[in-house]
Amino acid sequence: MQTIERTHPQLQELKTRLTEINDIESAASLLYWDQATYMPAGGAAARGRQMATLRQLAHIKFTDAAIGQLLADLRDYEASLSYDSDEASLIRITRHDYEKAVKIPASFTAKFSQHSAQCYEAWAKARPENDFAAVQPYLEKTLELSREMANFFPGYEHIADPLIDEADHGMKATSVRSLFAQLRQQLVPIVEAIASQPIADASVLHQTFPEDQQLAFSLQVIKQLGYDFQRGRQDKTLHPFMTKFSTGDVRITTRVRENDLNEGLFSTIHETGHALYEQGINREFEATPLAGGTSSGVHESQSRLWENFVGRSRNFWQFFYPQIQAAFPSQLSNLSLETFYRAINKVERSLIRTDADEVTYNLHVMIRFDLELQLLEGSLAVRDLPQAWNERYRSDLGIVPPSDSNGVLQDVHWYGGMIGGMFQGYTLGNLMSAQFFDAALQANSAIPTQMTQGNFNTLHDWLKQNIYQHGRKYPPAELVERVTGATLSIDPFISHIKRKYGELYAL
Ligand code: ZN
Repeated sequence: MQTIERTHPQLQELKTRLTEINDIESAASLLYWDQATYMPAGGAAARGRQMATLRQLAHIKFTDAAIGQLLADLRDYEASLSYDSDEASLIRITRHDYEKAVKIPASFTAKFSQHSAQCYEAWAKARPENDFAAVQPYLEKTLELSREMANFFPGYEHIADPLIDEADHGMKATSVRSLFAQLRQQLVPIVEAIASQPIADASVLHQTFPEDQQLAFSLQVIKQLGYDFQRGRQDKTLHPFMTKFSTGDVRITTRVRENDLNEGLFSTIHETGHALYEQGINREFEATPLAGGTSSGVHESQSRLWENFVGRSRNFWQFFYPQIQAAFPSQLSNLSLETFYRAINKVERSLIRTDADEVTYNLHVMIRFDLELQLLEGSLAVRDLPQAWNERYRSDLGIVPPSDSNGVLQDVHWYGGMIGGMFQGYTLGNLMSAQFFDAALQANSAIPTQMTQGNFNTLHDWLKQNIYQHGRKYPPAELVERVTGATLSIDPFISHIKRKYGELYAL
């Protein structure tokens, strides 16, 4: 960015206001991090209120007419700058956020957050009791409110578009649907072919692996990947996530199961991927709307790139396998690298999305995406959702959930948020991860060999240079084209799956 004395006075004023709003939002994020890590249960009610107060305050400050006036005053200045410049991008992205934020009445936000707290509570009770009927009226209300939300943005092609845009700016139901239709058509037969073969033996991962040793090993791994502990830390939680309070403080959380080596290690690498993205953003963007990942899809592309293309690769384990054997000698010393590699890449048609492997995972996501669209369109009623869910599991994955707890009640998303825009980012991210990784290899053919030596710098630097540093400057579709020279496609992902699993399963 330009130096203070050269900065346009209205832009300086805008930045001052944005910094203040960012500080309030960061304080709310810190309260959330504390709630999910160290807060005693007794703090829950007050904490919910405290976070809501801060978020409301930030919203009021951001939707202040003075921000609108500053943005209007800056139009000519913005037009005089190049599109790529930091200042033009800051004005552009702030305007985008502002124009969206002012369309949503504060009364709606209050009504929605009150409802979703009740819906979440009903779900938390209904899921273990396998009682969809108990949560059905809440979900019907969620659907009604989600439609209301979409209708604050009239002029859409599909009612889901405004909700999709919220997470994956610029993406639309039609384009995502056609991409997903192609993907499903390719994936279903691959999954069927793998399922017709004996399931890989992953029992070696389900011996007892003491928690402390698992944590120590995964810390060693993520240091090597490039996670900066001067600007981050890791703590334990129930549902792992990454959060950021500034570019100098990007934290990850993890969860360990002593009888499952997969769980802690790969979720740690996954959250590290999210954190490397945030740690790599241009530090000049600090405390502005540019300082964040550009979409949920691009964010997920980074967690999945590090988790799957790095962490589940043979190259990676050529370096790390002797180290994990040394960490767990009684469990792994007699086990070959090849058996271990097959175990961590086991493919199985299963019921739970979050436990799914790289091949079947997107089928889970696409089922949810299609059902969201049908609910919003009105072609599916909430009361018929469990049946529609089970039918799609039968046709796409060849299995039917024995209960709604393992079916339609498994994910928190619809019960703690909106219906619409919640799931497509996971699969868009997987597609992008393959396309980005291909582009990185094309630019640096030494990356695979370097990985076998425990050197991830070239890959990390390439990602910083091409993706991370830009923060929110470019929306996802534009970023993909800039970085890879092509529009988002299913081809790199399908080629990766065919290559890797074709070898593993002799397809
Ligand atoms: Zn993620």
